[in-house]
Amino acid sequence: MSFEQALRCRECGREYSLAPIFSCEFCFGPLEVAYDYDGIREAVSRDSIARGPATLWRYEALLPCDPAYKVDIGTGFTPLIRADRLAKAIGLDTLWIKNDTTNPTWSFKDRVVSVAIARARQFGFQAMACASTGNLANSVSAHAAAAGMDAFVFIPDDLEAGKVVGSAVYAPTLVMVDGNYDDVNRLCTELAGTRPWAFVNINVRPYYAEGSRTLAYEVAEQLGWRAPQHVVAPMASGSLFTKIWKGFQEFEKVGLIDTPHTRMSGAQAAGCSPITTAFQHDTLNFVPQKPNTIARSLAIGNPADGYYALKVMEETHGGAEMATDDEIVAGVKLLAETEGIFAETAGGVTIACLQRLVASGAIRRDEETVAFITGGGLKTIEAVQGKLVEPLRVPPSTAAFDAALDARRAVAAGGA
Ligand SMILES: *Cc1c(COP(=O)(O)O)cnc(C)c1O
Ligand SMILES: [Zn+2]
Repeated sequence: MSFEQALRCRECGREYSLAPIFSCEFCFGPLEVAYDYDGIREAVSRDSIARGPATLWRYEALLPCDPAYKVDIGTGFTPLIRADRLAKAIGLDTLWIKNDTTNPTWSFKDRVVSVAIARARQFGFQAMACASTGNLANSVSAHAAAAGMDAFVFIPDDLEAGKVVGSAVYAPTLVMVDGNYDDVNRLCTELAGTRPWAFVNINVRPYYAEGSRTLAYEVAEQLGWRAPQHVVAPMASGSLFTKIWKGFQEFEKVGLIDTPHTRMSGAQAAGCSPITTAFQHDTLNFVPQKPNTIARSLAIGNPADGYYALKVMEETHGGAEMATDDEIVAGVKLLAETEGIFAETAGGVTIACLQRLVASGAIRRDEETVAFITGGGLKTIEAVQGKLVEPLRVPPSTAAFDAALDARRAVAAGGA
């Protein structure tokens, strides 16, 4: 059962019937799915959701697709971990990590692709496609493989090996474009107009984007049916960030939680920070940038939802921060060393920005905070390689091991 009603322009409010379209014919504003929230309220309860599968399909009544078309490779309902050691290191009383590295292709993109591919199949598409900064390519390739569909995935040609192999292994038509993500996106927008493919983040973007709301649903359910006081989430296009806030508001609308008072803070890399820079200059109009950062999954210089992300910060009295490449690496290491979670560079951005927000007082020590870790670290080992403690190299003998360990401890004690 699906409660999607129409597509509605976010700017002028004009409605369109449900189709693979993404922008308003009158004002070129982005289209968003509108729902019958009264119907959803009648159909779901805390109990009915709790009885559902341990995937994002437990929220199927809130998703804009007929679940009969789903391609379920186990996405969602990822762990919410209480992070006391990290909280102490940063100076917070209560911190939770939403660990989305455990998804089937190790990033939150499996959420948006789950919804996009179900809706694409419902529309009758036979092939999937995307413009990607890496993780989306992995997820589209995997889901298309599981559905037996063709996939055409377009990525910039400077991505980490893990992200290239992490697509190629599913045997899509993988296209490496000589240029950055914004070039890839321009090419794909042109292709989307002439090819009979479901470009998940172009012609079916309104449905795709809705998949990110499940992150908020899960956090609210896992906290015992309530929203946290503060959220820190990474921003590329800004879509994920806006949909987390939308998800909390919808859970109130359908009667599952009380009014959320969550303050929403966004995290970007200093080498690609159009949204954070606009926030810091107190404007809703960002200036596009040419990205230069190790956080490649966040390297979108011209963010489609940047304006809406800034509106969410304004509405929720949230904040925004940016992290340098060195801070990103330190963030990856801190999360790993305190909580046992190995995140990709986007996770380093989130942790480093969380630290800055706490240090500046933008997040108060007593605000219960959830940090979103959206991708796994094995895809971006280049970022930390050579920056970790070297292994002890020994021949297979106890004496050699003891000698090496003593030498290492002496160095550590000497502070050298
Ligand atoms: C794509 C991505 C994001 C952010 O996506 P938005 O475009 O802002 O929705 C965050 N983290 C990771 C790891 C990603 O791959
Ligand atoms: Zn419009």
